[in-house]
Amino acid sequence: MKLYNTLTRKKEEFIPIEENKVGIYVCGPTVYDYIHVGNARPAVIFDTLRRFFIYKGYDVKYITNFTDIDDKIINRANTEGVPAKEIADKYIEAFVEDAKGLNLYEENTTHPRATEFVQPMIDFIQGLIDKGAAYNVDGNVYFNIEKAKNYGKLSKKNIEDLISGARVEVSQEKKNPLDFALWKKAKEGEPYWESPWGKGRPGWHIECSVMAKTLLGDTIDIHAGGEDLQFPHHENEIAQSETLTGKPFANYWMHNGMLTIDDRKMSKSLGNFFTVREIGEEFDLEVLRFFLLSAHYRNPINFNREVMEQLENGLDRLYNTKKNLEYLLDIAEDSKIDQGEIEQIDIYKKEFIEAMEDDLNTAHAIASLFDISKHTNTNFDEKTSKYVIQYTYDTLMELAKVLGLLYRKEEILEEEILELIEKRTQARKEKNYQLADEIREDLKAKGIILEDTSEGVKWKRL
Ligand code: ZN
Repeated sequence: MKLYNTLTRKKEEFIPIEENKVGIYVCGPTVYDYIHVGNARPAVIFDTLRRFFIYKGYDVKYITNFTDIDDKIINRANTEGVPAKEIADKYIEAFVEDAKGLNLYEENTTHPRATEFVQPMIDFIQGLIDKGAAYNVDGNVYFNIEKAKNYGKLSKKNIEDLISGARVEVSQEKKNPLDFALWKKAKEGEPYWESPWGKGRPGWHIECSVMAKTLLGDTIDIHAGGEDLQFPHHENEIAQSETLTGKPFANYWMHNGMLTIDDRKMSKSLGNFFTVREIGEEFDLEVLRFFLLSAHYRNPINFNREVMEQLENGLDRLYNTKKNLEYLLDIAEDSKIDQGEIEQIDIYKKEFIEAMEDDLNTAHAIASLFDISKHTNTNFDEKTSKYVIQYTYDTLMELAKVLGLLYRKEEILEEEILELIEKRTQARKEKNYQLADEIREDLKAKGIILEDTSEGVKWKRL
């Protein structure tokens, strides 16, 4: 499997630290508000990476954190006059709901909260002080970037340029303008933890380094996040982790591209800012997941209504294929197996896997699902052997699961539909056409389309 590694700016063969095992750390949300569409992108993309590794038989450990202590959380808590923990808890709960809608995270996933790791953070910071790589100024502890080897190696930034750029906002306390806070002294009324440097709380960068180290070890296979986190967040994670352990922090760094709305940067001031739950009021969140997978993850992606509507139709086509296959399964017989059909389905599956192995090309992988859909509609009917139908159905569902698609819960059960069809057939026999039409309309309203054929009534979901 090839992955594009931001560290080397190259697509590389993925080689895990331990055979058949993979540890992945993805920076999660700071929980001070509902997540927006932009936050949903890394969540969906790297969840799909997790799914693909599981599919390939890897023993996967997938860690994605909650930053539940931060200036933004404290500010919001102060504005609302409630404790910071209340804000964090509220938005973690909201995230879990949104995540369910997007079909994120089932197996092999851990969601650590930063505040559960404060002691190991203190130990980590003390380790850096002991090595002379961090210094305490009146209760604020800073990392000294001059002690980091190759600072700027991930983001390919030039330190001299950065230093001159940072001079403007230079803090009196810092030795170097690029030094960053590991521990922040608590201001009046702020939440705090006791530490060797007085009451305070961890800085943002240290949180991820410590959760990754504690849960996955000194060197992890893959660290991922949005490309906006490359600098300074990920650069600082590398600096502090590698300075402490003397080992590489992550072997592969993956970054997703940014999301625009109607070709503009999403911002509250432009009025084009959407939370996931706002999208959910208008579209099934599966459509959002489908949208986020419809472009290569490293490319920018543009969100707009037209695209969402097109994708909603596309997703419906896949659901119809699923239904058609289920219908054919009910009526198909064990006739002679056409090996050519099996081989063709295997070709689509192979193309799907090749696309996913080529730096997680979900856009191409989706095309393979549509190939299966088209093939079903063009070639299969009630004379197709049951084995071929079953094989196609299983392949479609297996591949859809890798992308986390086709997970929608059915609102109306098949038994109910069959009962209504039976009732309608009876009504027609009794020439009660009004009742028969009502039942047809009623089902249509629930997204079920009836078709009267020579073999009886067929139905499909819209
Ligand atoms: Zn992080």
